[in-house]
Amino acid sequence: MDQATNITDASQTQRQMRAVFSSAAIHRVQLRHFILFDVLPALGTLAAVASLPWLPVHPIDIVLFLALWLVTGLGLTVGYHRYFSHRAFATSKPVAGLLLVLGLMAARGPMVSWVAMHRRHHELSDRDGDMHSPNLHGDTLTGRLRGFIHAHLTWMIRHDYPNVARYVPDLLRERDLMRLNRSYYFWVVFGLALPALIGGLVQWSWAGALTGFLWGGVVRIFVVEQTMSLINSICHLMGAQTFTGEDHSRNNVWLGFVTWGEAHHNNHHAFSNSAAFGLRWYELDPGFWFIRSLGVLGLVWDIKLPQEAKIASKLRLKA
Ligand SMILES: [Zn+2]
Ligand SMILES: [Zn+2]
Repeated sequence: MDQATNITDASQTQRQMRAVFSSAAIHRVQLRHFILFDVLPALGTLAAVASLPWLPVHPIDIVLFLALWLVTGLGLTVGYHRYFSHRAFATSKPVAGLLLVLGLMAARGPMVSWVAMHRRHHELSDRDGDMHSPNLHGDTLTGRLRGFIHAHLTWMIRHDYPNVARYVPDLLRERDLMRLNRSYYFWVVFGLALPALIGGLVQWSWAGALTGFLWGGVVRIFVVEQTMSLINSICHLMGAQTFTGEDHSRNNVWLGFVTWGEAHHNNHHAFSNSAAFGLRWYELDPGFWFIRSLGVLGLVWDIKLPQEAKIASKLRLKA
């Protein structure tokens, strides 16, 4: 039997596998994660703002917030999304491991679960089974509002869990990555402890450790969470549909920079394996700038980009 036949057989077996699992134990884990990393960071952010008269922000807190927002955001968009989910470029094991650690620190769940859910999102985008589509709750105003809240937040409380053997067999074979992926909670705690330590040392006080923890840890987790949620909600509801396709994905140029490039979401659904989400000069894409910089340094290679002819052929309004 030749290699091509083997690959066809493997992908056929994958398609025949059960797609999702659902059980009380799985839903308990999902609820716990939602409370820990969605509810608590929101409450912590309120507490950080409310305590400003007593715990003012020091310049180091702003630096910690911005630095950790940037690197954990890049861990998600470049690591979890463009590399692990879509293999939009190739890299070495150490760089893949570093991207994974940065993504784990963002507290958006272990990478394997995130990627499995994301690949299922692309498979079924805005159709039955897409676990965070905002478009499956009816066309009335209340239906659209319910859809927005579901896609932005509440889907995370309880949802089907994709079968990782079907969706991410390539990742399951990489033992080192799997070992790192299992240390998810360690890296989340590390991402909270690091700004506390730096803030405490720079200000040389317990109050400095507390504000470092709050702004570089808790508030940063909340902002990153809200940013990624915007892609599921807003970017499947409103914005420009530059390219033809069967889903409701949209581009929101105004959100490009603050979402590390993720908001060019219609581009992404049209060319899901592209390392660049911004395809025009004004579609700011910090995630791709980072990939290109790593490419210049020789740390990543085989960076995938769609050909101009392919881009032109998929344009909704042809010039
Ligand atoms: Zn999408
Ligand atoms: Zn994707």
